[in-house]
Amino acid sequence: MGTAQPCARCQQTKPTSHHFEGPVCRSCFGKAVRTRGRCPACGTERLLPGRDEHAVAVCRDCAGLDRDFSCERCAHEGDLWPGRLCERCTLHDLVARLLADADGRPQPFLAPVMAAVVDTDRPRSRLMWVRSPHISRLLEDLAAGRVPLSHDGLDAAPVRTAALLRDLLMDTGVLPRRDRQFLLYQRWLADRLAAVHNPDHRQLLRRFDTWHVSRRFRTKAAKEPLSQSQIKYARNQISQAAALLAWLDRRGLDPGQCTQADLEAWHREHSNTAAQMFLRWAMHNGCMPKLKRAAQASGGRPQAAPPYVPEGQLARVLRDEDLPRRTRVAGTLVLLYAQPVTRIVNLTTEHIADDGAALTITLGEPPMPVPEPVAGLIRDYLNTDHHRLPYASARSRRWLFPGRQAGQPMTARALQTILRDAGIAPGVGRAEALRRFVEHTPPPVAAKALGYTDFTTEQAAADRGVTWSRYAAGGHGHRPPP
Ligand SMILES: [Zn+2]
Ligand SMILES: [Zn+2]
Ligand SMILES: [Zn+2]
Repeated sequence: MGTAQPCARCQQTKPTSHHFEGPVCRSCFGKAVRTRGRCPACGTERLLPGRDEHAVAVCRDCAGLDRDFSCERCAHEGDLWPGRLCERCTLHDLVARLLADADGRPQPFLAPVMAAVVDTDRPRSRLMWVRSPHISRLLEDLAAGRVPLSHDGLDAAPVRTAALLRDLLMDTGVLPRRDRQFLLYQRWLADRLAAVHNPDHRQLLRRFDTWHVSRRFRTKAAKEPLSQSQIKYARNQISQAAALLAWLDRRGLDPGQCTQADLEAWHREHSNTAAQMFLRWAMHNGCMPKLKRAAQASGGRPQAAPPYVPEGQLARVLRDEDLPRRTRVAGTLVLLYAQPVTRIVNLTTEHIADDGAALTITLGEPPMPVPEPVAGLIRDYLNTDHHRLPYASARSRRWLFPGRQAGQPMTARALQTILRDAGIAPGVGRAEALRRFVEHTPPPVAAKALGYTDFTTEQAAADRGVTWSRYAAGGHGHRPPP
């Protein structure tokens, strides 16, 4: 064995490791001890390592093989490891040894970990994983108490090593579930911070993450799973903050020495919104002097007297340039105009009128003027992105949100998914928008303009504690006395 000779099964000249009907190479042996099924000769369901005269896989008895493939302990037939144990029994023994106390006894509190690690349909790959030095060491550290059995404990281990074990422990309920997107973010953050060379900057960024970014994530993730776009937004904010610190450094400045002129230069060279989350946090926490941020300053563009102040989700959607414009436009229709997804997909470009100065949208009667910066967003979308969408047909072009089916708009379900991925819950956002709307507009007027029935808007007004019925429909813009 071991000398190069033609393999009886694949006919290649290779070192052969075993002898069946003839010398067999290592890879053909590997296949033989993993071929399972009903033996065509005797009808038994078992390992089929042998070959009959037509090279069909048969069981050991029908092939007349001397070799026994049964595990010494559990009699399972397969690849045998030292001690003539199958992969599953070998895995079990290895994990038990790694998780034992100093005297080699199993530790009761680690029994659930043991169960989680050995429970698998693919014992071989699990065995390979446990045998890797990082995982072996981590299991030993758990057993010795050097790593506590908790999320925080695993947080201290190298991120990539802990990730798979953490997944396993969450899947089996040993550890409470933690948001996967959040874990991905943490993995990314560890790499990102490691790339920051200035230790003061690294520490400041870590504080920004701990006390602002991750903290918000923890609160959100407790309610619903985080979306990819939320994570992407946070990663951008961290990267921009790191860029700002490096930029100040190149000007020989600590963040605490930044002046209004420096900040304006930063915004000129980057964008009005660059690093804004960090800037707000740093100024609020005294890490930077309180300066006027570009995002706060009036942009010089004449405002179409917006009847609203974008806040919360709407502000984010309007600001987040990482989101595709299509998503931002759809999000605005939900969050500002309280439109249901089913109606949004049925809007056509004819519902938007733009004379270059004012942009209006027709959702009901009469058409409504669209304030900045929403008007600009819709304009940009129609003039650029909308042309570049992969139209299924020329007729698709008329839809504000064309779909993949020829001549059809996007499906409501598809749009819903896009919005959800961007962190917008259409139902909640719409109800909130409707309530906000009726704060400023009598329900019958709002109903007509938004394309709703009076009842829906009355209901929203009631939810908001607004009693418009005491006022004549038409008394626009007045809020009832408290
Ligand atoms: Zn072979
Ligand atoms: Zn057989
Ligand atoms: Zn076994």
